[in-house]
Amino acid sequence: MGHTRVRFAPSPTGYLHIGGARTAIYNWLFARKTGGVFILRIEDTDVSRGSPELVQGILDGLRWLGLDWDEGPYFQSQYAGEHREAAQKLLESAHAYRCFCTPDELKARRERALAEKRDVKYDGTCRNLSPEEVKAKEDAGVPFAIRFKMPEGPGSVAFRDEVYGPIEKRFADLEDFVVVRSDGSPLYILSNAVDDIRDGITHIIRGQDGLANTPKQILIYEALGKEPPVFAHMSFTLDPKRAKISKRRHGEVATVEFYRTHGFIPWAVLNFLVLLGWSTPDDREFFDRAELIRAFSLEGVGKASSVFNFHKGDPKFITDPKLMAINAHYLRTMELSELAPLIRAEMEAAGIWDDMFEGAEREWFLATVDLIRSRYHLLSDFVTEGAAYFSDEFPMNENALNKNLLKSPELAGWLPELADEIDALEGFTLESTEGAIRGFADKKGVKAGVIINGVRAAVTGQLKGPGLFDVLIAVGKDRVVRRLREVGRYY
Ligand code: GLU
Repeated sequence: MGHTRVRFAPSPTGYLHIGGARTAIYNWLFARKTGGVFILRIEDTDVSRGSPELVQGILDGLRWLGLDWDEGPYFQSQYAGEHREAAQKLLESAHAYRCFCTPDELKARRERALAEKRDVKYDGTCRNLSPEEVKAKEDAGVPFAIRFKMPEGPGSVAFRDEVYGPIEKRFADLEDFVVVRSDGSPLYILSNAVDDIRDGITHIIRGQDGLANTPKQILIYEALGKEPPVFAHMSFTLDPKRAKISKRRHGEVATVEFYRTHGFIPWAVLNFLVLLGWSTPDDREFFDRAELIRAFSLEGVGKASSVFNFHKGDPKFITDPKLMAINAHYLRTMELSELAPLIRAEMEAAGIWDDMFEGAEREWFLATVDLIRSRYHLLSDFVTEGAAYFSDEFPMNENALNKNLLKSPELAGWLPELADEIDALEGFTLESTEGAIRGFADKKGVKAGVIINGVRAAVTGQLKGPGLFDVLIAVGKDRVVRRLREVGRYY
């Protein structure tokens, strides 16, 4: 493939929508796969200017996902002059004409057409004005819009969408659409095409909603003497009730920001979004970066809409359980050295110790992460369920409290006693702690499980976890002893 250039062109909404992120990912993958260029363009034509925060959320989301762009961000509003010039060219080559109809006239005609059940398309009043009529109106200062002149006759615009296949639209079903308003502002449909021409876009990979614009935009390309690019429209991502996903309807879970702030691994989110509506060559689910770039192709993108399965996932909030599972997969299998900075960020945000990420404690930190991660789904689990490993302040799970401590009131006295025995141990090892605890249970005439579960609750605040003796080594002697001594605070 020659030199490919693609773009992601979001409107400045303040946040990166997960469906938008998916489109961005496909563009990025396509660029990386073909050795092409990935451009970021902010389409702020119809938005009031001067709101940098409306762009920031989008940039943050893209950066977090690791979608590095090669050019931009360009801002569409900066090119309004160019868009008007293009309209001027269309006028000069008679692909467009001045329309002097006033909004009131247009509205009245539209209403009449509706009432008479006729086509509401523009009726062509100004299409065939003579040059003299046009000049007279212009001289009189009558404001005008610029309308694209739809070719006449039985022809059609035909193109092949890479996802939706061959598409044909008859001229007769299209209307003379406005490209510049009477106040001189260009319309989005024109700006978008002119920008794609200027940016040399070879493949337009965008949301399905762009499909309605495509025939008109192809006509704009042709009228400006340019070869239209390849189009590939991505089906929508819907919720399980088949409604479009939106921040208004679904709240923060519709945004990438939510996943950034709720313990998700960027690559896991990317991996999940890629799989929405893209069938992998061999039903494979997990990829590293190089593998994904190699495997990706537009051919695998389906035209059926994809479903983001909002369910109450594991067990924290409503999201897609598959996303949760993919996140857990990466969390459990990633290189510890890559996982560590992500956990560190969580811990720093939660105000947990900061001297274990480097230096002497680092080995211990990585080993502890490795010990506990097999049960976790989210990075945030390390600071909630896993807090007891890294901090003296940790939550006490209600079930652990009730089942493993309060149900056995004698533990209130026993565990401090056990603490003394552990404190007096020569070595603090798997064997010595196991010996101490089993011996202690024998001495008290109870099953070892009673003591083990009680110790686990007192030391980690949790009902379950890795093998207890590994846990004790990870938490460390001093803290184990202290927590057992202080168990009375739960009674
Ligand atoms: N700005 C448009 C949107 O946010 C993108 C359309 C396109 O990619 O051509 O939907």
